[in-house]
Amino acid sequence: MVTFAIVGRPNVGKSTLFNRLIGRQHAIVDDQPGVTRDRREGDGRLAGLRFRIIDTAGLEEASDGSLEDRMRYQTELAIVGADVTLLVVDARVGITPVDKFFAGEIRKSGAHVILVCNKCEGKIGASGVAESWTLGLGEPVAISAAHGEGLVDLHDAMLEAA
Ligand code: GDP
Ligand code: MG
Repeated sequence: MVTFAIVGRPNVGKSTLFNRLIGRQHAIVDDQPGVTRDRREGDGRLAGLRFRIIDTAGLEEASDGSLEDRMRYQTELAIVGADVTLLVVDARVGITPVDKFFAGEIRKSGAHVILVCNKCEGKIGASGVAESWTLGLGEPVAISAAHGEGLVDLHDAMLEAA
């Protein structure tokens, strides 16, 4: 089964997307020490495509290490544990230096990535979506994880990457 990992800076909507893709009741909280620490994984399903999905929650919850160390750790976890990385950005806020950091780490690793612009309900995210092209990760997929919009486009991108 293809494994997707969700990465991105705090508050962009990673967990909302995770829950949207799996349904909260299927989440597995994996609190083993070491490499698998601080990640939630579950079996996802989107329009007939079945997959494993990982929400790397460690960045927000870990109290040890600098923010940069934790971001690097989270990105590494995702790249090692998954076939495809979903990098989530907040289209309302626009692209931040931390988003650029994640994009740089992912580009360096050569991991297969889908760029996801979240919080795109309404028109308010349009400029953020346009800006996200500058990350150099290809065409962004505009979604609203909270409102369930754009999931067909996300499904198509995931199917293509799988
Ligand atoms: P995480 O820190 O990346 O896991 O982000 P969360 O999933 O915890 O979401 C952070 C905040 O963004 C919460 O208040 C969510 O309700 C909100 N949020 C998530 N997705 C959307 C969305 O599609 N649109 C809007 N407007 N808010 C969202
Ligand atoms: Mg979260």
